[in-house]
Amino acid sequence: APVTPTLLYLDNVTVSFDGFRALNALSLAIDHAEMRAIIGPNGAGKTTMMDVITGKTQPNEGTALFEGTHDLTALDEAAIAELGIGRKFQTPTVFEMHTVEDNLLLALKNKRGPLATLLSRRANQERERIDALLERVRLTAQRHRRAGELSHGQKQWLEIGMLLAQEPKLLLIDEPAAGMTDQETADTADLLRDIAKSKAVIVVEHDMTFVRDLGVKVTCLHEGSVLAEGSLDAVSANERVVEVYLGR
Ligand code: ADP
Repeated sequence: APVTPTLLYLDNVTVSFDGFRALNALSLAIDHAEMRAIIGPNGAGKTTMMDVITGKTQPNEGTALFEGTHDLTALDEAAIAELGIGRKFQTPTVFEMHTVEDNLLLALKNKRGPLATLLSRRANQERERIDALLERVRLTAQRHRRAGELSHGQKQWLEIGMLLAQEPKLLLIDEPAAGMTDQETADTADLLRDIAKSKAVIVVEHDMTFVRDLGVKVTCLHEGSVLAEGSLDAVSANERVVEVYLGR
């Protein structure tokens, strides 16, 4: 066994729905502070894979090891979130009537619990955390605006900021560039590359321009298993990948 275990190791994971294999002996390893792009046609099993990692779906076979010791398949969603796995769905869920700053504050309180935030001497510390989060998700200038007034792209970033407030070790993100302008898409790639300096990130994405911008290792799923894995250039050159996905 390796001295430093892989952060996430899916080993032969199978998920069957009425005999249909949404995941078919899927194996995948994600390192500490690695960003990985997951691509593949509709129905390839991308969502089901994320559901297994977050405990929403129990596999019929296989294991999902986190930090080499925690078997995610034996834990519920709350316990998995507690271990430091955060998930962002495609549609942003921010508190529209609250300011950007208050949204982040709520996410911080959620993490620390009400008692910590009652202690007023923590207030400065909290402000510093929020300043850093705002900076990180490029919303410093929007701090006092209501979340409901943000652009679609900015809402996505705010939600990423709220997830970062939970201090995850692994972030799962579903199609972050969907519905974004070209500029927002490029900024999102920058933002994710920055986050991936200190955290692992798994991004499911269909926008190949965005995936190229990320510049990370790519895994193409097909029929519930890994069809190809490597650089985007290598994966794009794979005949089977062209046949089932890129050549559509
Ligand atoms: P992707 O996210 O790559 O589009 P999914 O993981 O959503 O793929 O789906 C993989 C396959 O599993 C699809 O054929 C889908 O119809 C099927 N599937 C997913 N969830 C369920 C479910 N709860 N019940 C039955 N079939 C499902």
